[in-house]
Amino acid sequence: PGKDCVKVAVRVRPFNKRERDAGSHCIISMASSTITIQDPRNSQSPRSFCFDYAYWSHSGFTRDRSGLYVPEEPGGRYADQGSVFQDLGEGILENALQGYNATLLAYGQTGSGKSYSMVGYGPNKGLVPTLCDRLFQAIRANQDSRQCQVVDLLSRGSRSPGGLRVREEQQRGFYVEGLRRVPCDSAPQVEQLMEQGTRIRTTATTHMNANSSRSHMLIIFQLKQIFSKESITKQSNINLVDLAGSERQRVSGSEADRLKEGTAINLSLTTLGNVISALADVAVGKKVVHIPYRDSVLTKLLQSALGGNSRTVMNAQIAALSPADICYEESISTLRYAERAKRIQNRAVVNESPTE
Ligand code: ADP
Ligand code: MG
Repeated sequence: PGKDCVKVAVRVRPFNKRERDAGSHCIISMASSTITIQDPRNSQSPRSFCFDYAYWSHSGFTRDRSGLYVPEEPGGRYADQGSVFQDLGEGILENALQGYNATLLAYGQTGSGKSYSMVGYGPNKGLVPTLCDRLFQAIRANQDSRQCQVVDLLSRGSRSPGGLRVREEQQRGFYVEGLRRVPCDSAPQVEQLMEQGTRIRTTATTHMNANSSRSHMLIIFQLKQIFSKESITKQSNINLVDLAGSERQRVSGSEADRLKEGTAINLSLTTLGNVISALADVAVGKKVVHIPYRDSVLTKLLQSALGGNSRTVMNAQIAALSPADICYEESISTLRYAERAKRIQNRAVVNESPTE
């Protein structure tokens, strides 16, 4: 790692039923790591963006008997869950095992495929379960003792009515007070916690009269490796973030609560965008007086992940896109976000200390 440890990927999904029924056209095309988007109202002006990876998951697939999405023909262009993991997951895993923190964010409008890439559905396992399988494989393969903990943000948070408090400490930075951390020693155990977390996410948001697509889900693996021979302990966090939908909030429903909730989520995504912009400016040598980490809970918690201090990081982002013409405005705004994210540079430092 080093300066090149920020990876930005874009991925475009198949049409959904609504888009198919509307007779949508696909306005996205890809060639190696370049993505091109066509403004449906202006035939002259396709725009191209270049990222570390561009995943074509729009066509060229079939589903096998178990429901798994696979390329239509071997070596076909359809990018399946496995190829995304190979490019992004492997690096995160490797970095975490070496003692670097690692973060992966999925950004995009609701329904664009964030959760599909991060968590997956049914047999199409996303980054989290695959990473988890591989993490425990690595743990098993190793003679040294390693422990892994899952921080279950959602279960405890939903029990305290006002939500959990975010605190700040000099050394630690921002953290959530009173989070439940569950020691895990197998991938199925993590999967079960994920299911529980997803259920609680849905219930909690329903109680707040909000939609779960308006909430962020943070999955944090804390990995502590004790190398007894060398008397060295390495600790790393893997942050996996399934963000709220990035679509512009349209004022719907008159309930004040819902509006407040929407505004808060909007604020955190707006702030995330501002932080990313500021960091992108820093990276190109512009003078930046202030990086607004403190303006939202989300950016407070991701501060170290987003380049806030030297305890960081392998950073990867997936921008999820709808292929459809009707989503042009949202897709172009997602691509602009991803383009700024690409410019960020992180300084990676191993979190290593003598074993006590
Ligand atoms: P989001 O989390 O961004 O709101 P989802 O991940 O839930 O969106 O995706 C919406 C729908 O699109 C889901 O039914 C999902 O199965 C499907 N989908 C998303 N990405 C892909 C993909 N790469 N291949 C196949 N289906 C996908
Ligand atoms: Mg989702």
